[in-house]
Amino acid sequence: MNIIVINSGSSSIKYQIFNMSDNSVLVSSLLERIGESLSSLRHRWLQSDGKYKEISISKQVADHREGLQWITNVAEDTGLTQKLKGLFGIGHRVVHGGEVFREPAIINDKALEAIRKMIPLAPLHNPANLVAIEAALKNYPDVPQVAVFDTAFHQGMPPYAFHYAVPYELYKDYHVRRYGFHGTSHQFVSKQAAIYLGRPLKELDLITLHLGNGASAAAIKRGISVDTSMGLTPLEGLIMGTRCGDIDPSLPFYIAQRSGRSLNDIDRMLNKESGLKGICGANDMREIISRAEGNDALATLSLDMFCYRIKKYIGAYFAVLGGIDAVVFTGGIGENAAIIRKMCCEGLERLGISIDAGKNDSPSSEAREINQNATPVKVLVIPTNEELEIAIQTVEAILAAK
Ligand code: ADP
Repeated sequence: MNIIVINSGSSSIKYQIFNMSDNSVLVSSLLERIGESLSSLRHRWLQSDGKYKEISISKQVADHREGLQWITNVAEDTGLTQKLKGLFGIGHRVVHGGEVFREPAIINDKALEAIRKMIPLAPLHNPANLVAIEAALKNYPDVPQVAVFDTAFHQGMPPYAFHYAVPYELYKDYHVRRYGFHGTSHQFVSKQAAIYLGRPLKELDLITLHLGNGASAAAIKRGISVDTSMGLTPLEGLIMGTRCGDIDPSLPFYIAQRSGRSLNDIDRMLNKESGLKGICGANDMREIISRAEGNDALATLSLDMFCYRIKKYIGAYFAVLGGIDAVVFTGGIGENAAIIRKMCCEGLERLGISIDAGKNDSPSSEAREINQNATPVKVLVIPTNEELEIAIQTVEAILAAK
């Protein structure tokens, strides 16, 4: 049983084919710079000898439809036809499902209309997701397709956690509330944590920390996300590569008054020129760590700020959950940066959180624990796999609809 997963960004498409009998990746493609003068495609596929082969090619690709067709053509040239014989479904990552989608949805006219209605909430992402869905519907008209939403997992938040204390009409008129994102990743690693711990997810209280270029924390009570750090948009919460995370809501007005900058300008500044980059000029964590090791003051400050914010969320969610079984680190930073994990957990011994330096410093690509033996709270590092989670949810949705 094979599943295609399509994750379409504003100018890119990630495309994977999974063999669901062993979760292996048969094909993995990344098409970037769609709509520019030259788009590039990196295409990797599993050959009959069990080894992967990779090619990189460039040409002009005008839009997502053309892009998806190109990926399909390249994939067919490299033996895709055989793999498509067992094609069971196609799963699409869709960023915003609003309050409509608490679960993955089989794509039909009603679902498409609902995703379209969500465009004002995610003006950059939902249109790109829709273009890819429409292209895939044309390319594979007979294959069931499923939308898996970044926001859906966080629909478990209670009203006192998802409302902002602003006039209630804004919620009714414009859907202003906290939604949260990275839901697929938080859900995947919480399920993996339960498997690692050998306990049912329904018995576990977890704090999951997805730390990549975008970063978010979630409080997961017995498998349900009851709070998360991102809000109406992905700007709220933790400090990120280029996003500011939590700030005083008056800051944009103050900057506008003092500098005369427009709202659009400030919006761009908070999303693209802030976070780690705003403080030290870089947003690649590897570069920042190496500069901090060389005593660069602003790189050190940005690391301290990044970890301090995470620590505050760990404390908040510890209180929200009334104690926890495990803290889970994931995402490019969470999985690889031992120094960040150490700084986030330092001083939390009285909460039962205590890292073993030796375990923390041993790199691995496997799920593992890095806490000291006999501490009450496990500290886990679990590689995320959003594409696999989309594939799993796609299969479940198709089977449930049968
Ligand atoms: P995205 O949100 O774009 O999916 P990723 O989850 O891939 O991002 O995370 C990217 C971040 O992970 C970057 O800041 C990168 O520097 C960081 N990262 C990747 N590998 C390492 C490493 N070995 N040590 C420290 N940081 C790392």
